[in-house]
Amino acid sequence: MYFREAGQPIPAAGAAAIKPHINKDEAMKLLTGLAKVLKLSVCLVDHINYRGEKLNGLYNGANRRIYLDKHLKGYKLRFVLMHEIAHYVLHTGKLGPRYWKDPTYRQQLEKEADDYAMSILNILERRQPFRSEVKEMA
Ligand SMILES: [Zn+2]
Repeated sequence: MYFREAGQPIPAAGAAAIKPHINKDEAMKLLTGLAKVLKLSVCLVDHINYRGEKLNGLYNGANRRIYLDKHLKGYKLRFVLMHEIAHYVLHTGKLGPRYWKDPTYRQQLEKEADDYAMSILNILERRQPFRSEVKEMA
């Protein structure tokens, strides 16, 4: 594990020294396992067009189903899957008509799902520095 006191600078070799905890296949297995434990079904579909928009993924709370564009690959696939799981975890009961009618509200929920997905994938894969480290570097 990589620990650092708050306020201490990141050692020059720190970022390079951080290795992923798990590989990409293990990460995908964990995410699909998480969806299963949460009783969410995951469907790969050719294209997702919803209300005139082309989407990479979609969570339907009514049938607890996540739709993913089957053309997605690699990190983007894992990110979109985790993003849709995040909608279930964070936004159950909040994805009604207001989500589609109020762009500001929708943007807020999308950002929350993005942040959640990024945080989980950062922990699993060390794909990017933690947000707190990014803030400290700025
Ligand atoms: Zn979303």
